[in-house]
Amino acid sequence: KEEHLRKPDWLKIKLNTNKNYTDLKKMMREKNLHTVCEEARCPNIHECWAVRKTATFMILGDVCTRACRFCAVKTGLPTELDLQEPERVADSVKLMDLKHAVITAVARDDLKDGGAQVFAETVRAIRRKLPTCSIEVLPSDMHGKIENLQMLMDAKPDIMNHNIETVKRLTPRVRARATYERSLEFLRRAKEMDPTIPTKSSLMIGLGETKEEIIETMDDLRANDVDIMTIGQYLQPTKKHIKVQKYYHPDEFQELKEIALSKGFKHCESGPLVRSSYHADEQVGAAQQN
Ligand code: SF4
Ligand code: SF4
Repeated sequence: KEEHLRKPDWLKIKLNTNKNYTDLKKMMREKNLHTVCEEARCPNIHECWAVRKTATFMILGDVCTRACRFCAVKTGLPTELDLQEPERVADSVKLMDLKHAVITAVARDDLKDGGAQVFAETVRAIRRKLPTCSIEVLPSDMHGKIENLQMLMDAKPDIMNHNIETVKRLTPRVRARATYERSLEFLRRAKEMDPTIPTKSSLMIGLGETKEEIIETMDDLRANDVDIMTIGQYLQPTKKHIKVQKYYHPDEFQELKEIALSKGFKHCESGPLVRSSYHADEQVGAAQQN
């Protein structure tokens, strides 16, 4: 297991960098904004930004107080809170004329509210500036505190997304300072607070989980009323990060999608390059049809 697995062909893709993309990148720098699309070097960036009009903003800075072993975000002591950030994110969403904006954040364990207030303000600012844009929030567990979650739910996002990331057995090794149970509870409480807002969660596979454990995770999410699930291949961001144990074949992703749908998820994206926010624009309608 010490040597690195070879990346299969279906994961080798070329980054498309046309003018539109470089202009948008420039705007992000000028406005001092961070996107997961860029930081995670997401392979879908061209399709998302230019064709689907979706982007994932990372607010509350680019330094995280946690250090999950799969994640490429810098770890350390974060900078001061930037209270103008919600407006700048909303301005960019409008400039990009997005159809769907995903707002995520580093975990701010240094803040009492885990960043919930700035998060909620960002949702409201986007609503004000571009009411046609659907908004998905993807917070950390914000200390698992119910009042923080409430603050965010009160801003009425279109989708509440919180990632379970990996199966129960691997959670302590993969996600620093998060627990499997707390994430499930977070999703359940969100649904109780507002049953009209669809909930969503993502799983990365390839970390050494078994198929039974993947199915168990689906069951746990469904038992907590989660509506949408995404499943994607874990890719090691640098050699220092946790190793890939398996590259799943596209057919296996398809099979997992079918299993997820049979468990009652209203929507499931499953594929090697699927990320939490991939095709997120389609999920707003899909989850609300029921
Ligand atoms: Fe950005 Fe998500 Fe699209 Fe990747 S899949 S480019 S992170 S919106
Ligand atoms: Fe990365 Fe989120 Fe973990 Fe921070 S909490 S290290 S941003 S996955």
